[in-house]
Amino acid sequence: MDILIVAEHRQGELHRMTLEAVTAAQAFAVELKLSSAALVLGDDVDAVRATLAALDLGEVLVAQHERLRDYSSEAYTDALCQVIEREQPAWVFLAHTYQARDFLPRVSGRMGLPLLSDIIAYRSGGERPVFIKQVYSGRLSAELVSTVSVGQCLVSFQAAAYAADSVRAGSAAVRDFALELTAPVVGIQAEAPFQESAEAVDLAGADLIVSVGRGLGSEENLGVIKQLASALGAELACSRPVVDAGWMAASRQVGSSGQTVSPKLYLALGISGAAQHLVGMKGAKHIIAINKDAEAPIFDVADYGIVADLMDVAPRLTEALKAQ
Ligand SMILES: Cc1cc2nc3c(=O)[nH]c(=O)nc-3n(C[C@H](O)[C@H](O)[C@H](O)COP(=O)(O)OP(=O)(O)OC[C@H]3O[C@@H](n4cnc5c(N)ncnc54)[C@H](O)[C@@H]3O)c2cc1C
Repeated sequence: MDILIVAEHRQGELHRMTLEAVTAAQAFAVELKLSSAALVLGDDVDAVRATLAALDLGEVLVAQHERLRDYSSEAYTDALCQVIEREQPAWVFLAHTYQARDFLPRVSGRMGLPLLSDIIAYRSGGERPVFIKQVYSGRLSAELVSTVSVGQCLVSFQAAAYAADSVRAGSAAVRDFALELTAPVVGIQAEAPFQESAEAVDLAGADLIVSVGRGLGSEENLGVIKQLASALGAELACSRPVVDAGWMAASRQVGSSGQTVSPKLYLALGISGAAQHLVGMKGAKHIIAINKDAEAPIFDVADYGIVADLMDVAPRLTEALKAQ
């Protein structure tokens, strides 16, 4: 196969960003007339295999092994290197998740393969595809080209760069891949996945996000926002000043130095829309902004806007949601 998409999953569920990587791969495959396959690493992966087999892919490779029961960077590195060595894909695509950030550089280092990380788009048509990555807090775009003329290249895609909803359905053949994994040399044991603190949350997979900025005024007002988030069934997020003030944990910060999110709905309350914040949330499908200042830049990216005091609007939204 030409493109290998490495699937990420947890407790039998495919990570939404893997679907985004599949969307990227499907578009890339059509444009460059390439074949594509997905790879599932794990131990008990029936549900994930079934989800992937219902997509427009050439095939789904299933590599099961007891060492892959729980994620560990060592085992995933060993497994992916083995698959790449035997299958020789030209491109290996992944979502730019915490997991990929953890083990993909090891694969790159061990196999001497170029790694283009956190990619937001590509351009084909020239001699080699050009991959685009945001740098300097989203102010500039860097264009990256793999200089390896023959061989493979690893590419990870930023959250929301491609839409999970645009993934094409189909029917992929399933093939088992027999891994030969030996006992780990060092024996890294992963703890509970990607929880930076007791309050940590992986916002990248959230469908609904209620996010608050400095316009909140004080920590005491947070209760109103929590009630709104709970009525909506949404995750809570925030801008950086809210973290700096100690009102919320750093793991809930969205932006260039926080998380990149791609929910179906991003409700921004009292957030001005600075470039460093926008870079983390502008991929949201629908953005609703509530801000006292009609000139706030957040309204440039919002689909719907309310010029008002958030402390007036938030409780009324909560009431309306509860009444439904
Ligand atoms: C290297 C670097 C990295 C950074 N990384 C990030 C990052 O990851 N994430 C991030 O968010 N920022 C980041 N920043 C900070 C960023 O530049 C902005 O300062 C920040 O995003 C502003 O946050 P804010 O919109 O909450 O606050 P402000 O810009 O102060 O905006 C507050 C808004 O609330 C409105 N408001 C006030 N009161 C009310 C009210 N009662 N009702 C409704 N609206 C009201 C105001 O009109 C205003 O628009 C970074 C900065 C640097 C230099």
